[in-house]
Amino acid sequence: MTTATGKQTRGFKAEVKQLLKLMINSLYSNKEIFLRELISNASDAADKLRFTALSNSEIYAGDSDLRIKITVDKERNTLTVSDNGIGMTLTEAEDHLGTIAKSGTKEFLEHLSGDQAKDAQMIGQFGVGFYSAFIVADKVTVISRSAAANADEAVSWESQGDGEYTVQMVSKPSRGTDVILHLKEDEKEFLEEWRLRSIIKKYSDHIATPVVMLKEKESDEKEGEAVKTCEEETVNQAKALWTRNKNDISDEDYKQFYKHVSHDFDDPLVWSHNRVEGKSEYTSLLYIPKHAPFDLWNRDVPHGLKLYVQRVFIMDDAKQFLPLYLRFIKGIVDTNDLPLNVSREILQGDKRVENMRNALTKRALGMLSKLAAEDNEKYQTVWKTFGTVIKEGVVEDFANQKEVAALLRFASTHNNSETQTTSFEDYIGRMKNNQDKIYYITADTYNAAKSSPHLEIFNQKGIEVLLLTDKIDEWVAAHLTEFNGKKLQSVAKGSLDLEDQKDEETKKAEEAQEKTYESMLAQIKKVLDNRIKEARLTHRLTTSPACIVADEHDLGGQMERILKAAGQAVPETKPVFEINPDHALILRLRDEQDDSRFADWAHILLDQAILAEGGALANPADFVKRLNGLLLALAK
Ligand code: ADP
Repeated sequence: MTTATGKQTRGFKAEVKQLLKLMINSLYSNKEIFLRELISNASDAADKLRFTALSNSEIYAGDSDLRIKITVDKERNTLTVSDNGIGMTLTEAEDHLGTIAKSGTKEFLEHLSGDQAKDAQMIGQFGVGFYSAFIVADKVTVISRSAAANADEAVSWESQGDGEYTVQMVSKPSRGTDVILHLKEDEKEFLEEWRLRSIIKKYSDHIATPVVMLKEKESDEKEGEAVKTCEEETVNQAKALWTRNKNDISDEDYKQFYKHVSHDFDDPLVWSHNRVEGKSEYTSLLYIPKHAPFDLWNRDVPHGLKLYVQRVFIMDDAKQFLPLYLRFIKGIVDTNDLPLNVSREILQGDKRVENMRNALTKRALGMLSKLAAEDNEKYQTVWKTFGTVIKEGVVEDFANQKEVAALLRFASTHNNSETQTTSFEDYIGRMKNNQDKIYYITADTYNAAKSSPHLEIFNQKGIEVLLLTDKIDEWVAAHLTEFNGKKLQSVAKGSLDLEDQKDEETKKAEEAQEKTYESMLAQIKKVLDNRIKEARLTHRLTTSPACIVADEHDLGGQMERILKAAGQAVPETKPVFEINPDHALILRLRDEQDDSRFADWAHILLDQAILAEGGALANPADFVKRLNGLLLALAK
C-alpha cells in the first residue's frame, strides 16, 4: 500500500494517449456504449468481491447486498456509476487506469492504418473499457476504496483524457468505486433518466448484479404541499443471462452478453446455449466471434471460457474447458459439479473438468459444422478468420480428427479460385469412378500451386486437385492420411499411380519408350549424382520438360522450406528427377553428343524444375552462367 497522500500528477503511458484519441474519434457515432463499459466493469468488481468472500466472508463487512448505482447531478453536469464491489487501492488505480495491461497493445497500435473507418473496426476488436468514458466526458474522477482498505485509504484518480492524470489519497466511507463523469457541454442527454434507463435496458439487462437508479415519487401531501421523495428502483433484470429460460432471451440479449464477456464491440457470428443435467450439471454459452482478436496467433496469450461455479464468478480464461485450437471461442461455463474454492491447479487434472471439456469440444465442433451446413456465407467468414487455427485441431485432437477434417476448406482446381470453399466431402462427391485417392499439392502461394508442373497430367485427365497454400497445410497433411476411407496423396510425392486408369495399349507404348531412354537416364544420374536420388521418366507432365518429386517417405519440398525458414536442421534429402519423354527439349538432350553441353542441359533442367516448385537454387549464379552459355551457343 502506498503512503502518498498529496496530489500527484502522472503521465499516461504513450499507448494510452494514442488509444484514447483514436477511440474518441472512432466510437463517437456509438457513444452510448460508454455506459455499458462502466457497468460491465462495476459488475466485474462485484463478481470479484463475491469470489474473494468465498474464502473470507468478513470482506463484506456487513454489506453483502451488491449493486451498481447510477446517479445524475444536473447542476454539476455529472453522471456517476457507483458500485460496492472490490474497489481499488491507489497502486491498483494507477496500474489499471494509467496503463493498458494487455500485452501486445503497443504492437497493435502500430498496426493501425490511420484510416478512421478501418481503425474503428480494429479498435472494436480490442475492447477499450474504462477509457470509453472520455467519449462523453471532458473530465473523469474515480473515487475508489479497496475492500481491503480503511476509510482514509481511498484513492481519487482524475484525468481530462489529455495525457495526464492525478492521484491522491482521500477518504471514502464505504467500499467500492464511484466513476464520476463530468459530461461535455453537448452530452447533456446523458443526464436524462429515461435515456439512461433505455441504455441500461438495452445493453446491461443481462448483468447479474442489480443496476439501480433513483426514481422520484410524489408522496403524501405535507402541510398542503406535495413532497417529492426518491426511491431506488432496479432497472435491469439482474439475473445471470444463462440461467434464464432460452425462450425468454432475445438475440439482442445474447449479443449484449457476448460484448460483456468478450470485450468485443462487434456482434458475435453465432452462439450456442446449453444446459446439461443428470450425472454432470452445467450450463454453457459459447460464441463464435466475427473477427479475430489481434493476438489470436499468440498461443501463449490467456484464453478460455469464463468459469462460474453455482453462478458465482470464479475466473476468466479458464483454458481447461476447450482445446487450444478452439481458442477463438468465447463464452461462459457455469457448473454445479465443482467446489466453489476451485483453483486453476485443481482444474488441471480434474476428471469432471475433462468430461466437460470433451462435451464442450463436441458442442463447439457441432456448432461449426451446423453453421457450415446451414449458412455457407457465415461459415466462409469463420473459415477466413479462424481456418488456420481450426487446422491445428487435425494435429492436436486425434479423438475428433474426423470432425475437424470435415470442417476444412481448400482452394481447388475444380473452381479455379483462390477462395477456400472445397471440403473433403465436396471433393469425394466429384471423384472419378475409378479414382480412390484425394489428390493435393502444397505450395507457398495459390499461383505457385495452380501453375505447378505436377498438375499437368491431372488437368489433362480432368482429375481435381486440392491446392494447399497455408504454411500449416504441410503439417496437417502429414497427420491426416485419409478422409472417409480415401487416402490423401500429394501429387508431388512418390510415383504416380494413375496406372490403372490407363489402357493396355498406352502401357505397352510407355514401356517401349522407357527402353529408349535407359542410357540417357543413366547419364543424367551420373552428371547430377550429388543433387538427385534418381532420374526417371514421367508421364505426369504435358507441357513442362521435367519436375522434381519427393520420395514417398521423404519430407516434401514445401515442408523442407518451412522447416529451414524456421531455422530447423533439415535432413539432407535428394529429390527424384522426372523427365517428360515427349518434350522437345528432352528429345534434343537425348541427341546431344557433347558431354559438357549435356551436363549443362541436365543442370539447367533440374534448376528449372526446382524454380517451378517455388524452391530456391543453392547456386543461382551457376544456373545463370549455364543458361547464358546455351543461349550464346544458339545465337551463333
Ligand atoms: P478491462 O475491463 O477490459 O480489463 P478497463 O479499461 O475497462 O479494461 O478496466 C481496466 C481495469 O481497471 C479493470 O480490469 C479493473 O481492474 C479496473 N477497474 C475498472 N473499473 C473498476 C471498478 N469499477 N472497480 C474495480 N476495478 C475497476
